[in-house]
Amino acid sequence: MEEVFRFADELGPTKVIHVYEPSVGLKAVLVVDNVARGPAIGGLRMAPDVSTEECFRLARTMTLKNAAADLPHGGGKSVIYGDPKMPKKEKEALIRAFASSLREIQEYIFAPDMGTDEECMAWVQDEIGRVVGLPCEFGGIPLDEIGATGWGLSHVTEVALEYCDFDLDGARVVVQGFGAVGKHTARFLTEKGAMLVGVADSRGTIYNPQGLDVHALIELKKAGKSVADYPDGKKLDRDAVIDIECDIWIPAAQPDVIDVDNMHRLKAKLVIEGANIPITKGAEKYLYEKGVLCVPDFIANAGGVICAAMECQRACQSVAFQAIEEKLRRNTRLVLEDAATKGILPREAAVDLAVQRLKKSMSYRRWSLFSSAPGFV
Ligand code: NAD
Repeated sequence: MEEVFRFADELGPTKVIHVYEPSVGLKAVLVVDNVARGPAIGGLRMAPDVSTEECFRLARTMTLKNAAADLPHGGGKSVIYGDPKMPKKEKEALIRAFASSLREIQEYIFAPDMGTDEECMAWVQDEIGRVVGLPCEFGGIPLDEIGATGWGLSHVTEVALEYCDFDLDGARVVVQGFGAVGKHTARFLTEKGAMLVGVADSRGTIYNPQGLDVHALIELKKAGKSVADYPDGKKLDRDAVIDIECDIWIPAAQPDVIDVDNMHRLKAKLVIEGANIPITKGAEKYLYEKGVLCVPDFIANAGGVICAAMECQRACQSVAFQAIEEKLRRNTRLVLEDAATKGILPREAAVDLAVQRLKKSMSYRRWSLFSSAPGFV
């Protein structure tokens, strides 16, 4: 209990639910952060090691992301504890049991995240019918398959380059993580003229200063191999991806991969945060002071959730891509302009933008009447 109240503030969380169902071995947590704008959309993650606090931080990121993107949705996140590569039957049983246990929690809409995909969302649909990121057969827009987040990140990169002293053409890009986000970001950026020189997945890094073939890497991953098995490059340890000199570095894997212990190793001019909370506060400040421009996660990687929100409105893929492009180009410019004018970190400008939009929504709600009452956190 105490852990929950330690991180609560005036924005949320509104609900933290722990679920335990021994018959199927289900241990899980849901954090619904702020629902002033509407029901929370946030991914269902499957991972062995996510604390309630990390789940809350991810939910808060969704609150800010959805508010910044002007979506009629709040922020939430859920985690099932387990290995996402467990046998499919076991995974299905856990996901169905979790969805079923949250049947009455109308403020939360399931979405895919690390360790879950469109098929998992189809199981949730079958159980409770409150989910986005569905397969086409259920009227969904398969956002990971089409690379909605990567599409957004490529546009964010283009706008951010207006604040840098180099062009995308020939820019050296390094991507950490080659899943739904990483591979499509690499694909879109190289199609626009950038050169992928390094990439990592959980099993290793591959590096070639002359460039890597993104399509060949995607084929390798489809065949169940690691990017480190790519033949034409230097094979390195997984975390050596941080040391590769480049122009643009894109984290698209795990939270907190850059922190005060390794921040000195990064040799990039621009960081576009594809993953959620990939860089700790202290490390982001250090990079800012060193002149490295970082576009924060909840501005940069909102493509997926915009696509999901469009799916809720029954929009088609091309309309969703158009919305992602417009919203993210606009927000990136607003944030970077404000940060430059005020001499503050892009994250500070981004939080201001999102919180302003969120507080406006909160002011329409009954709870705002009580927000100055004694005891309000
Ligand atoms: P994914 O599971 O499809 O891919 C993750 C990739 O990261 C895999 O290639 C994996 O091998 C690799 N990886 C894991 N740990 C690693 C490590 N320590 N070092 C290097 N590589 C590692 O996940 P995803 O959907 O691509 O999501 C990646 C990140 O982006 C997550 O933080 C997620 O929350 C965030 N995100 C995803 C979306 C989306 O649309 N899928 C949207 C916004 C944010």
